[in-house]
Amino acid sequence: MTSITDSIQYLKSIGPKRAEAFEKIGISKIKDLIYYFPTRYLDRTNLINSAKVMQYVINGYEGEVTVISEVLDKEIIRYGKKQILKVQMRDSAGFFECVWFQGMKYFKNLFNTGEIYAISAKPVITRYGHLQFAHPDFDKLADKESKDFIHTGKIIPFYKLPKQLKAKHIGDLSLRKIINDAVNLYVNEAQETLPGSIIEKHNLLPLVKALKSVHFPENSEELKTALSRFKFEELFFLEILVAMRKQSFKSKLKGYSFHIHSEIIKNFLSELPFQLTGAQLKVLTDIKTDMKSIHPMNRLLQGDVGSGKTVVAVIAMLMAVSNGCQAALMAPTEILANQHYKNITRLLKNLNVRIGLVIGGQKKSERSVIEDKIKKGEIDIVVGTHALFEKDVQFNNLKLIVIDEQHRFGVIQRSRFIEKGVAPDVLVMSATPIPRTLTMSVYGDLDVSVIDELPGNRLPVKTLLRGEKKLPDIYKFINEKAEEGYQTFIVYPLVEESEKVELKAAETHYNELKSSYLKNLRVALIHGRMKWQEKDEIMREFAAKNFDVLISTTVIEVGIDIPDANILVINDAFQFGLAQLHQLRGRVGRSNKQAYCILITKDYLAKKINSFNFNFDYLSRTEIEKNKSMIRLNAMTKYNSGFDIAEIDMKVRGPGDIFGLKQSGFPELKHADIIRDADILFEAKKEAFHLISEDPNLTKQENRIIKKSLLENYRDNLKYTEIA
Ligand code: ADP
Ligand code: MG
Repeated sequence: MTSITDSIQYLKSIGPKRAEAFEKIGISKIKDLIYYFPTRYLDRTNLINSAKVMQYVINGYEGEVTVISEVLDKEIIRYGKKQILKVQMRDSAGFFECVWFQGMKYFKNLFNTGEIYAISAKPVITRYGHLQFAHPDFDKLADKESKDFIHTGKIIPFYKLPKQLKAKHIGDLSLRKIINDAVNLYVNEAQETLPGSIIEKHNLLPLVKALKSVHFPENSEELKTALSRFKFEELFFLEILVAMRKQSFKSKLKGYSFHIHSEIIKNFLSELPFQLTGAQLKVLTDIKTDMKSIHPMNRLLQGDVGSGKTVVAVIAMLMAVSNGCQAALMAPTEILANQHYKNITRLLKNLNVRIGLVIGGQKKSERSVIEDKIKKGEIDIVVGTHALFEKDVQFNNLKLIVIDEQHRFGVIQRSRFIEKGVAPDVLVMSATPIPRTLTMSVYGDLDVSVIDELPGNRLPVKTLLRGEKKLPDIYKFINEKAEEGYQTFIVYPLVEESEKVELKAAETHYNELKSSYLKNLRVALIHGRMKWQEKDEIMREFAAKNFDVLISTTVIEVGIDIPDANILVINDAFQFGLAQLHQLRGRVGRSNKQAYCILITKDYLAKKINSFNFNFDYLSRTEIEKNKSMIRLNAMTKYNSGFDIAEIDMKVRGPGDIFGLKQSGFPELKHADIIRDADILFEAKKEAFHLISEDPNLTKQENRIIKKSLLENYRDNLKYTEIA
């Protein structure tokens, strides 16, 4: 007896050759075929017969209709130099024609007399009085299907037909038949993956019923109910994984309970040149509470660029150090690590804290001296890049880890870092404003604090979009502003994904500008290929105002803080993603002076983009896709807040491509959309977290089924839960 877990070869309609083709698209067992869901359905919403269509058109209706009809004849007709393909069709009420002006040969071969199609398009009446559809959408139906469809209103599923199957002469109809047969014969063997109690509580369809309904829904409500079961299931298992990760972090690990030396903090604050914002104070309270607790802190600190996350991190580290412990701060780039090192050294200079820097480009001798001190506990705060991961870096008493710009690091790396101390507290900081729903699902193992306020003395950055023709005026502006003490970044993008080319562009422009438009200013160049000492030297000089203009590749993107740099020019701005543009813009506007971000594009584009008015309510996915870079740049000129920018970014990217999900070690979502299905997500999360808190190891009889599903379907993802 063949069973659902056997190879699809055993199905009547599939021989070894076809099985091979299916294998290529990841379908090898009968079960896989049953889990190959339709991507589209044909329902009767717009279905009418051709006589009614005529009526509609005469009455001025301009929408789409669907007609089920049979192919009568086809021919390519010549009108002078032009050709058109006409396919004559007939339905129960009359005749009409479909026409194509392009791809005529292809479509002519496709349609054969006697075949039945569902034709969907906007109808017109020709001047000869014929009903006509131009370039319609069409779906081929089997004779019986079309009858069932017309008479009983059965919904017809359509499956994606990959080219590997087409190559083995499997068409829409035969694929539908193959899946139909497989479902009919084997679906009852499908093993339920959720406990009965959960199915009942959340009103879900049982697996077998849901599978049947997804393939052959009787009506659209049934389809919706079936789909929501799969959405729930998928989100539930995602949240089980998140909950397990959180659990293993919280329970298995005993953390360090810090004593908070309030006087030290107070002293530190009183020496700062500014007062902390309310939002900074609020997140500090969260952090203090975590650090006092015996459970290790695992907190995400979110705050827009320029919101002042660094000083919060410094205070947290100071709290650790005043307990005689070590703290580490990790940054994604050498420039940023270096900047943090300097700032922290400056901020803590009166406090007798020993600070060290560990980055990739250091000299061996220099590095081993620092490593030695870290090991002996002679350095209190270690600032560095990925280099901190390396074997040779051994801590003496690491109890707090701060990770800056977390979106740049995957989770695996984070866990590697955690191994370095005995359950140290972890604070990750990110300027990427992750929408709440996403935070709670993917980073659900983290507690979240948000700095939702910028220091009060800031003016919003003026963001302008200009064509290249305007560059001379912009250089003039830079010259004028330099007299007021303004400094400028001029950024060139990564062209052709190659550092070499990028470097060349920046270098060429540097040489040109230095001897022309900017010849009266002090101009420097910085790029990714420089040794870190060189970069460091240039950044230091720039910060000390020994340069007016810094020409750079994107190395300045993240975190750089130069308060007097208040003009940013971004060349070929359409090359950048929205999040990246916003990060870049965050390099300016860090003082009480008016800052400018000037985005440069080709001249013809600048005009178009500036007058571009987008409204996501009216834009179709294809239109969004087509106008992506226009929307991005236009949004930059309209919005200043990272949260607005993030929302637009997500709409532009589409729900499938949400940042970080893949990297995070969690399963990709096939059915659910975190934004649109937020309600289901919330329900699934609540259920999953409750379940794991009651039964962390899934040993209860009723939860065995969950454990089994995890091991069967989520084996790869499970390893990320063992962060400890
Ligand atoms: P980000 O959150 O982007 O990392 P930073 O920590 O680099 O931001 O801070 C941006 C700038 O704002 C720094 O120059 C910092 O000294 C300054 N800053 C931080 N907090 C305040 C505050 N409360 N008032 C005024 N300036 C502040
Ligand atoms: Mg920062």
